[in-house]
Amino acid sequence: MRLVLLGPPGAGKGTQAQFVAAERRVPKISTGDIFRANVSRGTELGVAAKKYMDAGDLVPDEVTIEMVRDRLGEEDCAHGFLLDGFPRTVPQAEVLGEILTEHGHPPVDVVLELVVDDDEVVRRLSGRRTCRTCNRVWHVDFDPPEVDNVCDVDRGELYQRDDDREEVVRHRLDVYAEQTAPLVAYYAQRGVLVGLDATGPVDDVTLRAIDALRRFA
Ligand SMILES: [Zn+2]
Repeated sequence: MRLVLLGPPGAGKGTQAQFVAAERRVPKISTGDIFRANVSRGTELGVAAKKYMDAGDLVPDEVTIEMVRDRLGEEDCAHGFLLDGFPRTVPQAEVLGEILTEHGHPPVDVVLELVVDDDEVVRRLSGRRTCRTCNRVWHVDFDPPEVDNVCDVDRGELYQRDDDREEVVRHRLDVYAEQTAPLVAYYAQRGVLVGLDATGPVDDVTLRAIDALRRFA
């Protein structure tokens, strides 16, 4: 099964990607993992990507696409994969279709979109507190430390990362919605889009995802 996973920041996409890929027995392919693998192996693409990342710039599309092309050509992808973080745009989705054709694979079978209410994402992310000493992440509602703003592990001071501030989270959600809406429409038109309620406990979401995928063999 060839799967693409979409979801806003804070939807628990990384966690679901891992569970769903394991359940379907397909490799989980995330662009983050591919970048790191190429950089650590010192491939030509890795060297190119690292230059941008070190400068704090986005890795250009061509580099990302070449890495995805290489990865999908590897043997473990012959019978399926779960893509996380790619495609992000309609042009990338079109390239993905071409790559699959090149490798002699059928098109994407299912695009699973994790759907979470913006307010729930804000609640999840803006309640996070990070320890200055050990970087452990706590949550004021879901995983509170014994003493407010103090890490249970090492008594380190807890702080809110800039990324987790409500206005930043809302901005990231807006950017995601704007960027992803055309992609969602693109896959909906092809009849492969499945919207999945990603509210509530992680295990429940995983069960819903697995259940939804059963309908696609
Ligand atoms: Zn700590």
